[in-house]
Amino acid sequence: MFRVNANYAELSGGYLFSEISRRVAVWKSGHPDGDLIRLGIGDVTLPLAEPVVTALRTAADEMGRPETFRGYGPEQGYGFLISAIIEHDYRARGVELDPDEVFVSDGSKCDVANIQELFAADSTVLIGDPVYPVYRDSNLMAGRGAFLRYLPFTAGNGFSPEPPEEPADLIYLCSPNNPTGTVLSRAALTRWVEYAREHGSVILFDAAYEAYIRDPELPHSIYEIPEAKEVAIEFRSFSKTAGFTGVRCAWCVVPRELPGGLNRMWQRRQTTKFNGVSYVVQRAARAVYSEAGRRAVAAQVSYYMDNAEIIRRGLSEAGFTVYGGVHAPYIWWKLPEGVESMPFFDRLLECCQVVGTPGIGFGHCGEGCFRLTAFGDRERTREAVGRIVERLRW
Ligand code: PLP
Repeated sequence: MFRVNANYAELSGGYLFSEISRRVAVWKSGHPDGDLIRLGIGDVTLPLAEPVVTALRTAADEMGRPETFRGYGPEQGYGFLISAIIEHDYRARGVELDPDEVFVSDGSKCDVANIQELFAADSTVLIGDPVYPVYRDSNLMAGRGAFLRYLPFTAGNGFSPEPPEEPADLIYLCSPNNPTGTVLSRAALTRWVEYAREHGSVILFDAAYEAYIRDPELPHSIYEIPEAKEVAIEFRSFSKTAGFTGVRCAWCVVPRELPGGLNRMWQRRQTTKFNGVSYVVQRAARAVYSEAGRRAVAAQVSYYMDNAEIIRRGLSEAGFTVYGGVHAPYIWWKLPEGVESMPFFDRLLECCQVVGTPGIGFGHCGEGCFRLTAFGDRERTREAVGRIVERLRW
């Protein structure tokens, strides 16, 4: 008789998100005409930019003609996309990468979940709390439950804790952060790079929301920190930058300078388990770097960031404490003392018909907080903030 991977029994976070969907469904069935505003989703809502759609159409046409049809592409990604990534996302910020250090993929979720395969089963893993749950769950599935360490990223430490005294083998950092919407400074990233160099750790740097950084002084890539190529793997995605959540394209950088042959190992892993992103999608991603593409996606990011400002300012002016929303599309709402995030979810649904995400869903340190997202429609976002300010009473 087969035996299942018992590590899956350690997973729990998913229940909360399905519970949220269930509660929304129950509310909707009791209020069929109810006017619900969803500020809980971490998904974009604006359609793809015109240059991206044109590139998709053109590439689809190419696939339909014998002389331009393509089958399997290079597993690591087409050169036309990798060179654009290197040019615009790295060289423009003073970072030099070789094409064989960039691995195009169908999403950062898979990359951040799969990367742990490269490391020993008993590697200690340092994860922020609250956190994007994939870091934790992928390590739990791999049997590292006993090796997980959590580091609070809370208002108490300015969402930027000092590296701990104890060594850790793997460190997941997410900046701009989901869920707190906060960002790590150059000085903070430098301390993490120094820590990793001192302890022989690898930093797994998730910069899926890099495009939302507004302050030109803030680093967009961890490789802007000297020597980071010796200690860090970076994950980037077109999902939130260019509305590709349904198109699927991302990349990860595994520098050759990393010890242990990690670059070759990841190449081996990808060529064994992954057959590349479709030509059509990579053409669409390439179009993001055209002049028109860059203008269009910058406008989309600005649209969401204006929403973030509406939420941030609206709630702050009403006397609430909020964090984030300046360099990230997430607003992290500190609930009044003693208010738990799950009952608050129900209260917000009942009195304002606004859906958000309880902080407890992202870890214990997320309790007492609530995540709102800026990915909604402008007028609906305004309406949601108006309802909260007018109707919410403690
Ligand atoms: N990393 C973070 C921090 C995210 O919030 C998300 C998606 O919400 C992802 C990665 C996944 O991105 P992708 O759509 O590229 O899989």
